Amino acid sequence: MVYYKTNDEIELIRKSCLLVSATLAEVANFLKPGVTTLQTDALAEKYIRDNGGVPSFKNYKGFPFTCCISVNDAVVHGFPNNEVIKEGDIVSVDVGVFMNGFHGDSAYTFAVGTLTDDVRQLLRVTKTSLYKGVEKAIVGNRVGDISFAVQEYTERKFGYGVVRELVGHGLGRQLHEDPQVPNYGKRGSGLKLREGLVIAIEPMINMGKKDVYYDEDGWTVKTKDGKPAAHYEHTICVQKNKPDILSSFAGIEANEKANPHLDATYY
Ligand code: MG
Ligand code: MG
Repeated sequence: MVYYKTNDEIELIRKSCLLVSATLAEVANFLKPGVTTLQTDALAEKYIRDNGGVPSFKNYKGFPFTCCISVNDAVVHGFPNNEVIKEGDIVSVDVGVFMNGFHGDSAYTFAVGTLTDDVRQLLRVTKTSLYKGVEKAIVGNRVGDISFAVQEYTERKFGYGVVRELVGHGLGRQLHEDPQVPNYGKRGSGLKLREGLVIAIEPMINMGKKDVYYDEDGWTVKTKDGKPAAHYEHTICVQKNKPDILSSFAGIEANEKANPHLDATYY
């Protein structure tokens, strides 16, 4: 069942998304070598609750944390833990907020310290692929046009692995609604996009092969070949000529540039 949102509902989703974005901007201030992902998670939870939201992921199907934090070869759904972040790590942070009856969802991969050129390229290409997908989210296109745009750029152009097991999704009153939005697929296939459709577009891109496995915690998705993976996500609303991006990277990128421990020169 696909729910198309009213303008009032879209504005409520935007509020939830912007709290997600502000939370990720706080994370951008905080990250540096020596802090743990569990500390990062605690900071995010406090920030969300102090600002009137509830973490969407906490207790979702038993997920025990506010953020999914996935380091290096972890693709998504990583458990925050007591391991310290090190120079050269890439740290994907995925956050959801529930507020006023609606969810917002966004993710960003941070580069801690100086990266090798191949990892810098992975981040740049994955972030660019997100926007290549987003720009297809207009009335008259189909879900497959978004999927194809992401796959075409990352897999066919750069030879990266596009994760098949996990996909983007509709969202609103529920964190995950129809339709699914894969990062691979055929142009002109799938659901026709109509005004008011709110979806999360979220390329999960592996530097090596596409294959992944679940870690023993039952949640953390890792690359089989042990190579790094990146993940960027926006919640957007389909509109006529130009999609409305409800989350924002502006504050995240500003804080990323201001944090001397993060590399913001890859994009
Ligand atoms: Mg997410
Ligand atoms: Mg999502």
